[in-house]
Amino acid sequence: MIDTKDLIACPTCDALWRAAEPKEGERAVCGRCHTVLRTPRKGEATRITALALTVAILLVGTIFLPFLHISVRGFSNDSSIVDAALAFSEGLTTPLVIATVAMVLLIPLGRALLLLYVVAPIAFTGRPQKGAATAYRWSEDLKPWSMAEIFILGCAVALVKVTSLATVVFGSAFWLFSILVIITVFQDGFLSRWSIWQTLDQS
Ligand SMILES: [Zn+2]
Repeated sequence: MIDTKDLIACPTCDALWRAAEPKEGERAVCGRCHTVLRTPRKGEATRITALALTVAILLVGTIFLPFLHISVRGFSNDSSIVDAALAFSEGLTTPLVIATVAMVLLIPLGRALLLLYVVAPIAFTGRPQKGAATAYRWSEDLKPWSMAEIFILGCAVALVKVTSLATVVFGSAFWLFSILVIITVFQDGFLSRWSIWQTLDQS
């Protein structure tokens, strides 16, 4: 018989493995689908804190900076992400404005801030803040609704069509947003949910 405490289930493919503490510089990954299962706690919280802080700063930057500059036959237009969302603000499509702003900006920002609240105290003091477990659960629940990467992919597809009709110049917010999507992917790759829950459980 094996104690269930020694077992770890892969959150992606449900494979069950015997859990071993990875050494410094090592990670435990699922042998079947390569999802990160465990990382050494030392250093992980600091890395996740840095990435979450970067995501939050980049998101705030993308709200205020120009996203695209489009010009055709002497007419030109600068637009930010908020302008793009506000394009739906007439008639029946008004709820789309709320949905777009929430899924593209507010929810990713909320997730980054929740994650900061959970991991920053662990990184600096080794102990989580009060309510960290609830904050982490919210951050995980919001994950499917955070659609920054889908937005940037949609933009890329739409722009391929627009470039044949008008001159399109990407603004600084577009590049910030692209970097942000890559960082989010890295952050999710580094993050070991199991290690975080274990730290939260122990406290
Ligand atoms: Zn797996």
